[in-house]
Amino acid sequence: MGSMILPATREEALALDAADPIGRYRDGFLLPGDLIYLDGNSLGPPPRRALERVEEVLRGEWGGELIRGWTSRGWIDLPARVAAAIAPLVGAAPNEVMVADSISVNLYKLLAAALELRPGRPVIVSEVDNFPTDLYVAQGLAELLGGRCELRLVERARLREALDPEVAVLMLTHVDFRSGEMHDMAAWTQAAHAAGALVLWDLAHSAGAVPVDLGGCGADLAVGCGYKYLNGGPGAPAFSFVAGRHHGALRSPLWGWMGHAAPFEFATSYQPAPGVARLLVGTPPILSLAALERGVESVAEIGISQLRAKSIALTELFIGLVDRDCGGQGLELGSPREPARRASQVALRHPEGYAVMQALIAAAVIGDFRPPDLLRFGFAPAYVRFVDVWDAVARLRGILDRRSWDRPEHRARRKVT
Ligand SMILES: *Cc1c(COP(=O)(O)O)cnc(C)c1O
Repeated sequence: MGSMILPATREEALALDAADPIGRYRDGFLLPGDLIYLDGNSLGPPPRRALERVEEVLRGEWGGELIRGWTSRGWIDLPARVAAAIAPLVGAAPNEVMVADSISVNLYKLLAAALELRPGRPVIVSEVDNFPTDLYVAQGLAELLGGRCELRLVERARLREALDPEVAVLMLTHVDFRSGEMHDMAAWTQAAHAAGALVLWDLAHSAGAVPVDLGGCGADLAVGCGYKYLNGGPGAPAFSFVAGRHHGALRSPLWGWMGHAAPFEFATSYQPAPGVARLLVGTPPILSLAALERGVESVAEIGISQLRAKSIALTELFIGLVDRDCGGQGLELGSPREPARRASQVALRHPEGYAVMQALIAAAVIGDFRPPDLLRFGFAPAYVRFVDVWDAVARLRGILDRRSWDRPEHRARRKVT
């Protein structure tokens, strides 16, 4: 534990909320009153302003304007507008970010682009424990390109030695999805550059939760998620970042009309739009983008430094209370103890982790489970309260004390965990 003095009673936890400088922002979200929601790292809740905005787009814009809305309501510019709002959260210039598609599809575009930016270097390096979709996308690209692309997967400790003159791009996820451990973005970007390679960061669990400075680090490429800490709604579009110095030579492997220099000339031949606009492929999902725009505002208005400060306080409290109140229960911390190396989530290991999480969910504490034995808790600072942390640990302790996880209904596997 760090310097935090642990509350001795639930009243003391409530007092932490009363003194919280960003506590009032919770009211901006629609959250069921009886739930303790510690899964905003997988799906953020709806900002109230997003509900209003989507209703307005449905009735007033779609219903009122029909196809005229592309111009009269600026739908055609919405991907770039939302991108410009995301840019300051990740240390990018507005024209270096584009919003489209999912992380998986954007990774495909940017990995292919990276190989073209480093001709004669066929290797993509990543770590074996990276998020599976990142690995699947790279595997699929390598299969398509045959000898022109090879995926080199190594353990984290072997990453540096994997950076040889064959490497086009180092692809890393900034925040480990299991442990919440953060890579040193500046150091790995420098290491990739020293080897003549580019770096591609996956910011799925970073954007809107921890400070990111893509520009300051000299990063080349990045992708990030709209439906986690940016609260854009289930399946919200993702974003891509390409450093301005690469715009001239940037080639996407997916050519579509929305990434054409002049889509409404209906020319026979493809001409890429300037800069990151060429990363657009098909027609943008306006309802999803409208929700995402309000989701981004819901964190941007608080500011990343206040979010980070509260996130550290929440995770320190959780770890401290688990240490103090759940000792001897077979739990182990699966995240870094030093707050500087930890993002906004905490993992606990337990041999019966799946059943324990199901019992917690039945007790209205929503986290998630990741194999083999991780209970994962996200502490989205825009709306999680200190008293939620207190109550979650109290219920976890109760479940472990009474072994109430040890029931067939808590062991039955669900399709989405
Ligand atoms: C959540 C997450 C994704 C999601 O990818 P989609 O294609 O947008 O579903 C990708 N990478 C990481 C590291 C994630 O945590």
